[in-house]
Amino acid sequence: MRDTAEIFGENVFSLSVMKERLPKETFKEVKAAIDNGKRLPEDAAGVVANEMKQWAIEKGATHYTHWFQPMTGITSEKHDSFINPADDGNIILRFSGKELTQGEPDASSFPSGGLRATFEARGYTAWDPTSYAFIKEGVLCIPTAFCSYGGEALDKKIPLLRSMEALNKQALRVLKLFGNEDVTSVKTTVGPEQEYFLIDEKGYNARRDLIYTGRTLFGAPPPKGQQMEDHYFGVIKPRVQAFMKDLNDELWKLGIMATTEHNEVAPSQHELAPIFATTNIATDHNQLTMEIMKKVAQKHGLVCLLHEKPFAGVNGSGKHNNWSMSTDTGANLLEPGDTPYENAQFLLFLTAVIKAVDDYQDLMRISVASAGNDHRLGANEAPPAVISIFLGSELNDILEAIEKDEPYGAKEKELLKVGVHVLPKFPKDSTDRNRTSPFAFTGNKFEFRMLGSAASVALPNTVLNTAVAESLKQFADKLEGASDFTTALHDLIKEEIKAHKRIIFNGNGYDDAWIEEAARRGLSNLRTTPDAVAHYLDPKNVALFTSHKVYSEIEMQSRHEVFLEKYTKLIDIEAKTMLEMAKQDILPAVSAYSSELASNLMAKQEILGSAPSFEEETLKEISNDLASAYDAYKALESAVEKSSSIDDLVAKADFFKDDILSSMTSLRESCDKLETETAADYWPFPTYGDLLFAVR
Ligand code: ADP
Ligand code: MG
Repeated sequence: MRDTAEIFGENVFSLSVMKERLPKETFKEVKAAIDNGKRLPEDAAGVVANEMKQWAIEKGATHYTHWFQPMTGITSEKHDSFINPADDGNIILRFSGKELTQGEPDASSFPSGGLRATFEARGYTAWDPTSYAFIKEGVLCIPTAFCSYGGEALDKKIPLLRSMEALNKQALRVLKLFGNEDVTSVKTTVGPEQEYFLIDEKGYNARRDLIYTGRTLFGAPPPKGQQMEDHYFGVIKPRVQAFMKDLNDELWKLGIMATTEHNEVAPSQHELAPIFATTNIATDHNQLTMEIMKKVAQKHGLVCLLHEKPFAGVNGSGKHNNWSMSTDTGANLLEPGDTPYENAQFLLFLTAVIKAVDDYQDLMRISVASAGNDHRLGANEAPPAVISIFLGSELNDILEAIEKDEPYGAKEKELLKVGVHVLPKFPKDSTDRNRTSPFAFTGNKFEFRMLGSAASVALPNTVLNTAVAESLKQFADKLEGASDFTTALHDLIKEEIKAHKRIIFNGNGYDDAWIEEAARRGLSNLRTTPDAVAHYLDPKNVALFTSHKVYSEIEMQSRHEVFLEKYTKLIDIEAKTMLEMAKQDILPAVSAYSSELASNLMAKQEILGSAPSFEEETLKEISNDLASAYDAYKALESAVEKSSSIDDLVAKADFFKDDILSSMTSLRESCDKLETETAADYWPFPTYGDLLFAVR
């Protein structure tokens, strides 16, 4: 058995591998490319490519691929082998600098939201040296960015990298004001906690809804769900434990620091958290984690469900995005610190985040919007669709004291002056108790909890980074010209708290009273994806992204289209799957059972006369319910037909949201009722109970 330290990162062409294998000069050039975003010279790229190939072949790789993240939200790869014909008829294994740095996948089948029509269809991938190459199943994967020949981003990576650059630029301006001359870069960091369900593959294979859509579209609630609260942090079952061990090994080999694992609230639900990393690497790693989870599950006869709401009535799955900002000198900018100077700097960065989240609530909501996540946001267990920030009472009191020019704490005589006074210590755990807040300060980072389990973390972080960059820009603009920095800083923080305190809410976010209170405060409550996405192209949002060069206006328009397209396509598949299952499985099964009831009833009546019987009463009930289910079926069928004639994307998305989804709900309700009335032997697929409690 090899130990963890030995296998960790063994499939990654990491900095230390490069240091060991590359000529000194080349390594320096690679390092400069990574640290300062410098382009790698062509000859250096050739040297790196050759060594990378050699390393990959030693590890058994035969192919390479440019690994990228198109707007589908999943990763893409097209494998090419290293094989090249040699003059003597044999082969040689080759991998050139050009093949490393640039690829040309056929872009025409990836979503582009109209960019394809406007620009050339061809797209290309370009090596992103800030994320290391790795080997996955015998293939050397090179993390790349994907764009059109006009330079428009066709992926999730380019805007993310641009947003990190925007934040870096503005954060450095602010840090200079505090005299941090030695800091040369600020990067955002992310630790995404990933929730998922693990079910037995037999149950999965018997359900077309799971196969086609990743979630159950039918299913009556089982007698036991999560009401006993016996699963959260419960003992991990041996089969799950074996899966987790394998998963950790596979992730560690890829240099992914998977560290925490536990059972979640719902039966069959679990969580995995890595140690945080720089945002673009964390994003790559999270994509890989989701992929590897599915593959490892398969080896154990299990299926990993990453859908946000695979089962109605029990918790859905999210992804907590822990986020902070770090300097290259090792300082976490959301760490309060001990001196007045450190405290003041902390308070300014904290205020920047508060302002960013308040100013761009709509974008934050949009960044987590999807048909799947709509089932979660606003549902019982999840943060509501309203965005608010939890700070914890101590920090809240400090900000209030600053805002109102009041003394802080019982013993303090003096007013709290930013940059002069040391902040009173606030215990870290006091900030971490609120589990209902969509955006919570947890001691030295913020935790954005609205993300859905299936989605890439790229967009939420792109939004967060850019919005915070904008706050910092405005702060730097004001403070750079100030004659008395400390006073200007104090006044700025005070003003900003006053302007944005409506976004701070330390109470229970699941309370209905909060939704009313939020409306009074003027906070936005965008309940569905179409409601949210309608604000994507609002002038203030276009101004934000274009001014920080994160998206061009055309890129935003294309993404707006992709959002709506994805939403309608997904629900369209769900609706059609329901129609198929109802017509081919459920209605025939119920009909067969009814006819058995009917023939039993007739036989019985011949002998016993017409005494009230199980058969008679059930038959009456079931016949009624079968008729309503069939009505619901026909209603959904005609709604789906109608939807296909709507061309306008916005109108189409609204139709899916308002008409199709409600027809789907009606069909489900009547079929779920039939499930409770039909003999188990007749029911055509595994029930919720079968699915949720099969893994032991
Ligand atoms: P919990 O949320 O259960 O209290 P932790 O606070 O230990 O757990 O961390 C949860 C996640 O937050 C982990 O993935 C961790 O690596 C990440 N994290 C911790 N510090 C930071 C940071 N400075 N930036 C981003 N993520 C962080
Ligand atoms: Mg957490």
